[in-house]
Amino acid sequence: MSQPASTIHQPSGHSSLSVDEARKYILAQLQELQGDESVAIRSSLDRCLAETIRSKINVPSHTNSAMDGYAFLASDLPSKDNITLNVIGYALAGHPFQSRVDSGQCVRITTGAMLPQGCDTVVVQEEITLNDGCVVINSAPARGANVRQAGEDLSIGSVVFSPGHKLSPADIGVLASLGVPEVRVKRRVRAAFFSTGDELRSLGETLADGEIYDSNRYTLYSMLEKMGCEIIDMGVIADQPDAIRKAFSEASEIADIVLTSGGVSVGDADYVKMVLDELGEVEFWKINMKPGRPLAYGKIGKTSFFGLPGNPVAVMVTFYQFVRPAIRTLQGEKNVEELSLCASLSHTLKKAPGRMEFQRGIFHRNDKGELIVESTGRQGSGMLNSMSRANCFMVLNETQSNLQAGDTVNIQPFVNFF
Ligand code: AMP
Ligand code: MG
Repeated sequence: MSQPASTIHQPSGHSSLSVDEARKYILAQLQELQGDESVAIRSSLDRCLAETIRSKINVPSHTNSAMDGYAFLASDLPSKDNITLNVIGYALAGHPFQSRVDSGQCVRITTGAMLPQGCDTVVVQEEITLNDGCVVINSAPARGANVRQAGEDLSIGSVVFSPGHKLSPADIGVLASLGVPEVRVKRRVRAAFFSTGDELRSLGETLADGEIYDSNRYTLYSMLEKMGCEIIDMGVIADQPDAIRKAFSEASEIADIVLTSGGVSVGDADYVKMVLDELGEVEFWKINMKPGRPLAYGKIGKTSFFGLPGNPVAVMVTFYQFVRPAIRTLQGEKNVEELSLCASLSHTLKKAPGRMEFQRGIFHRNDKGELIVESTGRQGSGMLNSMSRANCFMVLNETQSNLQAGDTVNIQPFVNFF
């Protein structure tokens, strides 16, 4: 049964929507979720900050030596060569030298030890000779050499991280160096999902003719887990209005975002569409892309809904192009643009003008340092193996036609995806 064209609302008024138009439309409907929690910094990896972090101390807190050597005052030395200094004591990390160092004197110092009063420079131990308890410097280093100034990494009062910042291992180290034990982070996005399709069997069941294992629930689960979501797997829902109604009502009550796969193509959207018309406001789109043409998007109450296509590669492509930026927006991230690079094609590539294509590629750097990309081969939207072997999408825009070896293409590396 085909769906009347009049029910397919396209915000642009065109018969089919571009990837950019759809993404812009979706992101414009979404706001950062309310709610945050306090977590120990060790549990804050990949979480989004809900507060501004200001430095309450200088990092480093004291001016200290960057090397093992001898600390002295370089600024008032009469010459730069063959300087002889008296060694008057030790400064060790955690054990400062307690008195003042005068002109012509020096102190043995280790990395991280506080620079003694009166010193401004450290000469590294490999560049001196010891002579009768004195240090002889053949050629003096520049004033301030091998010294780390207090606050040079972070100074008191400075803004270190802003709300929406996603915490990396380096950031967590920075928080520790500031003496911050806990941070307030945005709560995790709650994502519920289910598959639709009478042909789908769960793992452990035996396949009858025409049946397939439900792989989308596993890719969806993994992609959501990678994004740090709280996940609610609702299983396979039969193609029956009551079952679909119950699943959507339940999911929208507990989740911030509901994802389904399958059943949104023109012709088989009937039950899903009927139920969604009843429960919420959902648009059924034809996106000008390959794979992933059919997509449903809308709201059931306050919950965002994405009806992804059924084909396993299309699920992943539409997840990364639409769902991922949506989840990042809900999480409060400010810049949801993905990394994009240019690479040179290693062979000819078939592309018909008309749709934006997300072909799967493998890129590497050649011995000249250039990025080279090759296709994973056959690109059927059911061939999940093409995703599994890829390390990037080759993003080919609507107008592009067949490409030659050596042509430049945009690639979207999977570094953040996988
Ligand atoms: P549909 O969008 O429902 O017409 O499905 C398109 C194609 O994707 C069909 O070949 C389905 O069998 C397949 N498909 C749908 N859902 C799943 C799933 N959960 N796992 C694997 N393949 C699926
Ligand atoms: Mg189906």
